[in-house]
Order: sequence, then C-alpha cells, then structure tokens
Amino acid sequence: MNTEKSNVGRHQLKVNAFEMLRRPGTVKQFDFSVSPETIDLSDSRLVPDTDIEVELVCESMSDGIVVRGKISATFHGECRRCLMSLVGRIEVDVHELYQVTITDPDAFLIEGDIVDLAPMVRETVLLELPDAPLCRPDCAGLCPTCGQDLNSGSCSCPTDGVDTRWSVLDALRDQLPE
Ligand SMILES: [Zn+2]
Ligand SMILES: [Zn+2]
Repeated sequence: MNTEKSNVGRHQLKVNAFEMLRRPGTVKQFDFSVSPETIDLSDSRLVPDTDIEVELVCESMSDGIVVRGKISATFHGECRRCLMSLVGRIEVDVHELYQVTITDPDAFLIEGDIVDLAPMVRETVLLELPDAPLCRPDCAGLCPTCGQDLNSGSCSCPTDGVDTRWSVLDALRDQLPE
C-alpha cells in the first residue's frame, strides 16, 4: 500500500536526546504513521488496521527537549443517543517537555539519553478517544418510550422535553474534568 507517510517501527519513535541537548536549538521533525501495535496500544475504539498519524517537531533547549505537534487517529463506535454506528477522527495538539533533570512538574523524564515518544503518543490517543461519541452534535436520539429514531422523524408519544433533558446531560458532561 502506498501512503504519503512512511510506516515506521518503534525504534524510529526514539530520539537521541544526548546529541540534541549538546546543541540547544537543534530541531528534528517527525512525520509518520504508526500502527497501534507498534506503540503497545490496543483499544476497541480504534478502527482496526488504521494507523495513527504523528506529526511532531522536537527542539532542544538548555534544560530539555520540547515536543510539539499533532497526533491523529480514527475511532469507531456507537452514537450514545441514537446507537447508530459511526466513525470519527481525533486530532490532538500536543506540547510536551522532556528533561534529564525534572524542574517542570509536568515534564517527562529522559532516561538513558533517549526520548521515547511512544508512551506519550499512546497516552495522548487513549485520553482523547471518546467513551460516548455522538453521530453529530445535535443528534436527537431515540424516543425513550417507543424507540423511534427522532433524527428521522418524530413519534406520537407525548413529548415531555426530551431535547431539554439531553441538553442538561450535555451541560453536566461539559462540567466534568477531562
Ligand atoms: Zn446519533
Ligand atoms: Zn416515541
């Protein structure tokens, strides 16, 4: 299969931190696809045989290596309201710091002079995959009484504010911490 990006093995997700830290300002670009298995990622929400796209720029500073860029993946599932199967895409902007000596509490530790990007890519994808996706933001869902898909028409059940209840649920969901 010919894709624009090269499919890489796990060793290519490793960066020689020693070399980069010797020269602050060194920039390395990563632009490739990895299979989930390559980074020990197994999750039923990911579409099988679909790669994760990684576009990262690593730059060395005097006290660490900054990794910035975008990670994208394709998921599938069922709409939480109407139960229709759906396929969607996550695109996550990342901005991480790797340090030999941790001075920033959010930084990742550089061990053995190597930055291994695989754990960060894996965690980023796992955090972003939706547990309860929607087929579209305004999905009307199923009638709780008769099961009619309200996206394709209303039913004759008495309406007691189904839409309102959905929006209350969504408001609660938005208040939950990530
Ligand atoms: Zn839906
Ligand atoms: Zn109904």
